[in-house]
Amino acid sequence: MYDVKSLKAEEFISDEEVLETLRYADEHKNDRKLIDEILEKARPKKTGRGVECAGLSHREASVLLACEDPEVIEKVYALAREIKEAFYGDRIVMFAPLYLSNYCVNKCVYCPYHYQNKDIPRKKLTQDEVRDEVIALQDMGHKRLAIEAGEDPVNNPIEYILDCIKTIYSIKHKNGAIRRVNVNIAATTVENYRKLREAGIGTYILFQETYHKESYEVLHPAGPKHNYAYHTEAMDRAMEGGIDDVGLGVLFGLDKYRYEFAALLMHAEHLEAVHGVGPHTISVPRLRRASDIDLDSFDNGIDDDTFAKIVACIRIAVPYTGMIISTRESEACREKVIGLGVSQISGGSRTSVGGYAGYTPDERPHDTEQFDVSDQRSLDEVVKWLMDLGYIPSFCTACYREGRTGDRFMALCKVGQIQNCCHPNALMTLQEYLTDYASPETKAVGEALIAREIQNVPDEKRRARAIEYLDEIKNDGKRDFRF
Ligand code: SAM
Repeated sequence: MYDVKSLKAEEFISDEEVLETLRYADEHKNDRKLIDEILEKARPKKTGRGVECAGLSHREASVLLACEDPEVIEKVYALAREIKEAFYGDRIVMFAPLYLSNYCVNKCVYCPYHYQNKDIPRKKLTQDEVRDEVIALQDMGHKRLAIEAGEDPVNNPIEYILDCIKTIYSIKHKNGAIRRVNVNIAATTVENYRKLREAGIGTYILFQETYHKESYEVLHPAGPKHNYAYHTEAMDRAMEGGIDDVGLGVLFGLDKYRYEFAALLMHAEHLEAVHGVGPHTISVPRLRRASDIDLDSFDNGIDDDTFAKIVACIRIAVPYTGMIISTRESEACREKVIGLGVSQISGGSRTSVGGYAGYTPDERPHDTEQFDVSDQRSLDEVVKWLMDLGYIPSFCTACYREGRTGDRFMALCKVGQIQNCCHPNALMTLQEYLTDYASPETKAVGEALIAREIQNVPDEKRRARAIEYLDEIKNDGKRDFRF
């Protein structure tokens, strides 16, 4: 029985409701009147509180996703761009993953970390190695990390993860600092989520992999991750533990994408209904080739066009959520989906344990790698590429450090203060990057962009102050200004 407010996985992700949604979407996918109404409902509207978007229900969004009419798809893309522009402007937040340990007791059949894989050397960073990795990441210019680890209560207990977080935040190398650590570790207890919150994490990220319970159980045949309910209810426990920024995601390629899409939105609706705040981010990873993983044994892969449509429909349905794409995707694919709704991307990523320190930008260790990285460019190249495409790479971490998490972050989005807040913050953190880490070409492009874009801060006083801060970053060596 479907109940959005239930705390039971099988009730808030009711299989029956997902199947009914897919039937409804098939029945209505050519109903142009209904589709126009859905698009109209989702369109950004000016209200007394600024620009607001209503979002869409999982049923409405599933109709858009099912529609194959090229004219409608163009309208969906145009609306996704409009919504993205309203809330995220041209800013793209940068981050990098940091792999701590590939020890794992699970048997996920798509993941090379599964415990039966004897081809992959097992490695866990010592605190000294974490330090080296963080210095290498700071020297690239990163300020925001997503830490990743397999699940292993003996080798990677929560105490180990907490020690790593402490080490990461403690390192101040030259002008570097990691200002936000997001955490992607296996589902855990309320008590452990509380500890993560106390350690000052940003977002707790956990991919559902698949919402389809039967497939889930086949894909996770052994280990603690086998438990579908425990995994699916993790975000409720995280929120109970006081973490109010949580990140959802599906690993596309495991099961049917339309099923995953509807269930993902049902999960977002559940968090909003129960906790009053939706997902802070949604990630859209796609399955990649990896050690001991035969991609041919998975037959639910999606092509780039379908992938782009999914991104656009998520952007329309959950307008305030950040959307994340990793270097699993190629440069061309990233370019397409950034335009349609993605707001955060990784750059210069290594998916191996200890993949940053001691390697030049062209060298990459493959032995402990989690999956093949498709976009292999350096952070500097990605930053310049984004600017050449008309985007503003941002290293901003201000919201979380100013306590604007959960519904307070959503409120900022809704009142339209973004242009006076996020926009100058993005430009100031970009200036830090240009001054401390960029190549001369990137720096030249970036400084011209900042000079232009700073004029678009609407509030006169705020603009004047931001110009002063930019000057202090460039000429007085000052860092870490934020609104
Ligand atoms: N161990 C944690 C857990 O169980 O949730 C998370 C860490 S794992 C390093 C991060 C994510 O990588 C997984 O949630 C999964 O979606 C993704 N992943 C695993 N194998 C993959 C593959 N072959 N291609 C792409 N992504 C993969």
